[in-house]
Amino acid sequence: MSYDTPLDDDRILIKGAYLLTQDTALGNFVGDVLVADGKIKEIGRKVEDDRARVIDGTGTAVLPGFIDTHRHNWQGALRNLGPAWTYEEYRSQVQIGLGQHFEPRDVHVGNLTADLMSLEAGVTTVRDESHISNSPEHSDAAIAAHWESGIRAVFDHGWPSTEAEQWQFGSARRHPDDIRRIRNEVLPDDSARVTLNAMLRGPELSTPDVAEQDIRLARELDLRISMHVGLGEWGARQQAIRRLAEAGLLKEDMTFIHCCTSTDDELRMLAAHGATASVASALEVFMPGLGQPATNRLLAAGVRPSLSVDTETIVSGDMFGVMRAALAYQQLIVAGAAGPMDRVPDLPTFDAADLLAFATIEGARACGIDDRTGSLTPGKEADLIMIRLDHANLLPATDVAASIVAGGHAGNVDLVVVAGRVLKSDGVLKGGNAHFEQAGASRDRLFRAAGIALPA
Ligand SMILES: [Zn+2]
Repeated sequence: MSYDTPLDDDRILIKGAYLLTQDTALGNFVGDVLVADGKIKEIGRKVEDDRARVIDGTGTAVLPGFIDTHRHNWQGALRNLGPAWTYEEYRSQVQIGLGQHFEPRDVHVGNLTADLMSLEAGVTTVRDESHISNSPEHSDAAIAAHWESGIRAVFDHGWPSTEAEQWQFGSARRHPDDIRRIRNEVLPDDSARVTLNAMLRGPELSTPDVAEQDIRLARELDLRISMHVGLGEWGARQQAIRRLAEAGLLKEDMTFIHCCTSTDDELRMLAAHGATASVASALEVFMPGLGQPATNRLLAAGVRPSLSVDTETIVSGDMFGVMRAALAYQQLIVAGAAGPMDRVPDLPTFDAADLLAFATIEGARACGIDDRTGSLTPGKEADLIMIRLDHANLLPATDVAASIVAGGHAGNVDLVVVAGRVLKSDGVLKGGNAHFEQAGASRDRLFRAAGIALPA
């Protein structure tokens, strides 16, 4: 079936929910939200509307949908393969081993699988870090999946996973020129539900000349930029953020992913230039080799970070686990048991309410779409979720934010709305689960091509 079914819920009034608006002017309160014409029309303690379908929000929290600022969606059908992998094992198994065998249809299946899991768990925007640009058809397949799933997506065009090793760690290859075609012909509209960014390698993964040429290309095309930096000991030696600052290339259009081994000085440079950060906290604590989540060091530098899943081959594709991992690592810092970069006095801390902001409005800021989404501000696109607080794992929800962060899971997400379209309701994904059979078939095809034994 198509996931792009016509809108049948164009006017919705949610009554009596606990609203975590993520808009500091509005705050949190029990009240009503009216969705009309795809937008948040009105919010208040009491909103009436004769034409709207009324949803009883009693016993629920309504908040903007989660925004995942960095996920490699193409790996959706490879999820949960290696929860105990090291960084090198992940690279050799997925990026180098399996990535070269992806056909466009596998990218389509992977992206759709990742999108649907995201929606199931209340993620309404995903920034798809697509380093599977093996051909123009691969990129087109990834983008098509985002249109079909109904999710809001920032498609970050990256490099190929064919000859993966030639494209990273000192690579002299320039970013694939196909990004021009995609900008001009496929995703020219920055106000659309699916938009384009550039996933660049920067000075950490390519030569300084290539890094500069690629950045100039992205800016010529008026594209925001994401970049993986601070990756383990390699990242500590490269100091990519410092080099960008010294070259006059560090700007507010950049989002830096991980920053695990970026120095405190570099994080201050990031802040001073108005750039943003994405912490993949679950992945970073699970996978040895990258370093530790920089959440608290970023706060010390004056940056409120966004959060991200990264790869579902290792960690779960929901933001609940990502928030909990960030908190778990912070508590190691507080206990004096964290990594060496965090053994400094008086690092600022965050709480559950901060984590919900990192996972929503700060994600929107990192993607440059906070004028459109990330809070329940009237006039913004209606990207919102309803979480049932009357489920056994959340009752009695004494502190709503703390309950969601400490105990929430995808099964508590009752309603998911993107741009006014209902994509999950009464706890059931509208597209159903039939698609997930294709994910198994794609996995089988890829395993056979790579000579990996199929599961029994
Ligand atoms: Zn990544």
